[in-house]
Amino acid sequence: MAKSTQILIVGAGIFGVTAALELAERGAGVMVIDPGPLPHPLAASTDISKVVRMEYGTDEDYMALVEASLPGWREWNDLADKTLYHETGVTMFTQEPMQPGGFEYDSYEMLLKRGHQPERLNADDIAKQFPGWHAGHYVDGFYHKLGGFAESGRVVETLIAEGKRKGVTFLSGQKAVEILVDGGVVTGVRTEDGTEYSAEIVVIAAGAWTPVLLPELAPLMRITGHPVFHLQTDQPELFSPPLFATFTADVARTGWYGFPLHPTERVIKVANHGVGKVLHPEHDERVVYEADEANLRHFLRSTFPALADAPIVYTRRCLYCDTLDEHLLIDQHPELEGLYIASGGSGHGFKFAPMLGKIVADRVEAKENQWLPKFKWRTLPPSTSGKEAARHHG
Ligand SMILES: Cc1cc2nc3c(=O)[nH]c(=O)nc-3n(C[C@H](O)[C@H](O)[C@H](O)COP(=O)(O)OP(=O)(O)OC[C@H]3O[C@@H](n4cnc5c(N)ncnc54)[C@H](O)[C@@H]3O)c2cc1C
Repeated sequence: MAKSTQILIVGAGIFGVTAALELAERGAGVMVIDPGPLPHPLAASTDISKVVRMEYGTDEDYMALVEASLPGWREWNDLADKTLYHETGVTMFTQEPMQPGGFEYDSYEMLLKRGHQPERLNADDIAKQFPGWHAGHYVDGFYHKLGGFAESGRVVETLIAEGKRKGVTFLSGQKAVEILVDGGVVTGVRTEDGTEYSAEIVVIAAGAWTPVLLPELAPLMRITGHPVFHLQTDQPELFSPPLFATFTADVARTGWYGFPLHPTERVIKVANHGVGKVLHPEHDERVVYEADEANLRHFLRSTFPALADAPIVYTRRCLYCDTLDEHLLIDQHPELEGLYIASGGSGHGFKFAPMLGKIVADRVEAKENQWLPKFKWRTLPPSTSGKEAARHHG
């Protein structure tokens, strides 16, 4: 196997795979290495579903980025035998009337400003249209028909196959342990088994493992683990479209969000987009504790009475590669020529997948891109607070 390539990408999660596909489409020779198997079971991208929403409070950049991503999501549905992106729409409900400064209110206003047509709903509307919700407990919010969820693991699988068709080489069983540098210029990487790969350009897309490979990023990044639950229901119609959509439940105040009954896995995934637990991607165990389950049961009782005692058939603690401000990091390394980073998904990066590869490729080719300034390499004070509007910051 050739040990040299034009562009070497470290990591076959959604950041690495979309970058590989785009750079190959632009004519580059691309190789992707990953410890594998692919998709990697511990990768954040490997899951049954990820929310695709354009609602980001007052942050117009992210809404525009999802608007630009939606056509790509729909196109990718043609790449696979079964639907990858389910446009269920999203419901974002609140226990108090929506207020200016609140995630739901600001998102609603931004949707209207950008010409979208969210449907505002009060307690009666919610009870009538979405009977799975605890009647009268949620009194305001909206349904927006654009958005839904993507079957993330299958998306990565499908894009890897597409990448191979486009000439990308994917090597699993290869874990980068060292970045090779000669006089300030990157020349390749060495992997755990001692193999050296030489490349003109190296892109680190190693998700939660990124600050392990690049310790100089530790001041900007924090790896946090978040609980995920899969529930079974004996009332599938109540938790399936059109009676149930991808949802957030006062998410900025509680962290809770989830999905309708999964069309093939036949489970309801509920998770918490909150502070999380700081973990090391390799040394710390990734478990869901009794306290997490107790929090879930409390939430279900108050919000989805029909799920209050639903069996939990699977749990996972999945890792976010958080930046302190929760914006992505897509840029060149400030000191090492030829080294690029595509990471910092901060628990919300998957939905941008159809655009991620383009943004990374534009950075590698030093082309203008409207989102790159937001994702540039940055030094932030440790006291920096997270900016992702839907995230529950405790
Ligand atoms: C619980 C949870 C829920 C989420 N929900 C959503 C959501 O609803 N919507 C949304 O938009 N986003 C969501 N996200 C965020 C999204 O999943 C991530 O932003 C995105 O998947 C990150 O992709 P990645 O490619 O950076 O990392 P990963 O998918 O983790 O991939 C990194 C890859 O790098 C490889 N790697 C690591 N170290 C090395 C090495 N040394 N050498 C070679 N390869 C290496 C790994 O094996 C892995 O395959 C969620 C994340 C989590 C954890």
